[in-house]
Amino acid sequence: MPSYAFFKNQFVPLAEAKISVMTSALHYGTAIFEGIRGNWNSQHKQIYLFRMKEHYQRLLKGCRVLKIKLPYTIDELCQITVELARKCGFEEDIYIRPLAYKSGQSLGVRVHDVEDDYLVFIIPWGRYIDVDKARCIVSSWQCPTDNSVPPQVKIMGHYAGNAMAKSEAVESGFDEAIMLTSDGYVAQGSGENIFLVIDGKLVTPATYNNILPGITRDSVITLAKNELGIETIERPVDRAELYYADEVFLTGTAAHITPVAEIDHRQIGDGEIGEITRKLQELYAEVIRGNNPKYLDWCTPVYTK
Ligand code: PMP
Repeated sequence: MPSYAFFKNQFVPLAEAKISVMTSALHYGTAIFEGIRGNWNSQHKQIYLFRMKEHYQRLLKGCRVLKIKLPYTIDELCQITVELARKCGFEEDIYIRPLAYKSGQSLGVRVHDVEDDYLVFIIPWGRYIDVDKARCIVSSWQCPTDNSVPPQVKIMGHYAGNAMAKSEAVESGFDEAIMLTSDGYVAQGSGENIFLVIDGKLVTPATYNNILPGITRDSVITLAKNELGIETIERPVDRAELYYADEVFLTGTAAHITPVAEIDHRQIGDGEIGEITRKLQELYAEVIRGNNPKYLDWCTPVYTK
């Protein structure tokens, strides 16, 4: 099924959305991206876009960091996305990739005085980490700090490090990498936040630990509190805590909630999906597909009836 992109202010077939080899962002990593999921509900014959507004709020924060000026408001970015998704007409899970980038075609390392542009495209995309329980390693690649490349926003260039961490893990026979901060605390996966279950509570690295404050992370904290009465402690997490936590799981738009069964050749808990992880997975699966009326305001339907 052909897909479409919104490119240079219009809807075009995805295959026709092409950028020049001179594009500044391609050379210097000066772009902000997002990843938004559209989750297919076969009973409702509907795709629900999950927390789209929050994704665009984060995109615009990143744009301020890289001095990218977009001619669209958050509402317009949302409208463009819904229209694009409708045009694509998929009846399966989709992944939306917005990109605000330095589109100017003059070389030179800078973020000022270069033109900006915006594009968004959609692809069908199923599971990201394609296992029920992930086996992870702590990466030899660290997360950059706020004063190198700010990790709180999705700066394209930042992901060179994450990509190397992911490949190091996969090429060593694992499913995902867990990256540490430069001072040795646990930060996150290459494309996910991380949670530990310790004594019945959730523990996750704090926003000051050089993490991307994930929208799935926020959803999990909210669902754990409201639906399970479980509180989340946001604090620095030591590497060794990963090994003796009762449960560990990863969260992300692409990865949803992925249980972790093993880290650095150590079994987590009994090596099975933990009870709290499973409950959160079930809740989250309901919520993102528009099956939980309490959280419908997190879901934007694509198709009109
Ligand atoms: N950390 C990193 C490095 C990521 O790339 C992502 C994916 N966007 C996340 C965490 C999870 O964020 P979210 O739940 O908003 O997708």
